[in-house]
Amino acid sequence: MSRALIIGAGGVAGVVIHKCCQNSEVFGEICIASRTKSKCDRFKDELKDKTATKITTAQVDADNVEQLVALIKDYKPDIVINVALPYQDLHIMDACLECKVDYLDTANYEPEDTAKFEYKWQWAYRERFEKAGITAILGCGFDPGVTGVFCAYAQKHYFDEINYIDILDCNGGDHGYPFATNFNPEINIREVSAKGSYIEDGKWVETEPMEIKREYDFDEVGKKDMYLLHHEELESLALNIKGIKRIRFFMTFGQSYLTHLKCLENVGMTSIEPIMFEGKEIVPLQFLKAVLPDPASLGPRTKGKTNIGCICQGKKDGKDVNYYVYNVCDHQECYKEVGSQAVSYTTGVPAMIGAMMVLTGRWKKPGVYNVEEFDPDPFMDALNKWGLPWKESFDPTLVD
Ligand code: NDP
Repeated sequence: MSRALIIGAGGVAGVVIHKCCQNSEVFGEICIASRTKSKCDRFKDELKDKTATKITTAQVDADNVEQLVALIKDYKPDIVINVALPYQDLHIMDACLECKVDYLDTANYEPEDTAKFEYKWQWAYRERFEKAGITAILGCGFDPGVTGVFCAYAQKHYFDEINYIDILDCNGGDHGYPFATNFNPEINIREVSAKGSYIEDGKWVETEPMEIKREYDFDEVGKKDMYLLHHEELESLALNIKGIKRIRFFMTFGQSYLTHLKCLENVGMTSIEPIMFEGKEIVPLQFLKAVLPDPASLGPRTKGKTNIGCICQGKKDGKDVNYYVYNVCDHQECYKEVGSQAVSYTTGVPAMIGAMMVLTGRWKKPGVYNVEEFDPDPFMDALNKWGLPWKESFDPTLVD
């Protein structure tokens, strides 16, 4: 039995906490630590009589390495699961290095003032993690996360080389609000209002935001418009999967979401440049976050399904192979099980599974890794067991 320190107490953390508590054989004890301790205590009160996992809580500012180190030294976890925000990644990695504890997160580091995420900052920790003999797993949510495991599984079982990958992220859910985001609004809006990009022949190709649009007919959801976005797993998969010529990421958005976003952009509400307001400096995007619905509150209202997966095209024994592997997840089913909608669920379940892979030694290797660098098979089995079963097709509709 192991001890995990879970940092963050938002939508994704809620799912990680529920899933660790369902898996008490591995997660004998968890400590939930976040900026607002009352949110951690709420999870503890909800679950304490329903699980064999022993739950404690703590207050921590994860931007403060000293505080983190003190908490880790006191609690002595076997792993730190970072489900706070991407801005905290490096601070938490620093604390893990100092205490020699394994680390896992679901989103790559992004400096608060540049809205540009890439892996270089976290990959720079490789040697230090190797020397310390500890493992860091980066991006172990659904996308990034399961999408990388899906590609590694395709490579291992069905391809000699994968030349084209399209990652399709469809949210067919409806929460009934004209505008709300399914995960942290600040992170979500920074992601979708940025320029799009994809990798072709080893080079990044940049597009205007939402410039490339396709329609796709998703299993169990139906036809949706999807748009090409920059996404973090493109960077690591282009390096780790053999034979890549082009890799793209598409996400679906409804017209109401896009119209509201355009309007908010046009009036300056999505800006991350601080402005003075009534004698106080505020960041418009952070103010917008404060007035939007909390993603954690969307659970009871959201109906419909998500469908996220990867279409791989390549060769096996000289023959062309097309392969699609995806998961369909129902918002209401997730809410019934853990009190969250499917976007938090599809992120939190893989984070629990990734931590289990490290704690049980199957993904334990000193250094800093992306998920596709490990054996995908035990993770794929665990997805079926822990609530994210996947489907395969060898004759998928391709994206032109
Ligand atoms: P939320 O905003 O719901 O939760 C974030 C939590 O982090 C809050 O509890 C917040 O505390 C806490 N937090 C923020 N700053 C600090 C700090 N300095 N110290 C301690 N705690 C802090 O976000 P989500 O749960 O929606 O998202 C969590 C992470 O998951 C994000 O990094 C997001 O990018 C990632 N994600 C990954 C996906 C994937 O598929 N890979 C998909 C969706 C999300 P407080 O309550 O006080 O604000």
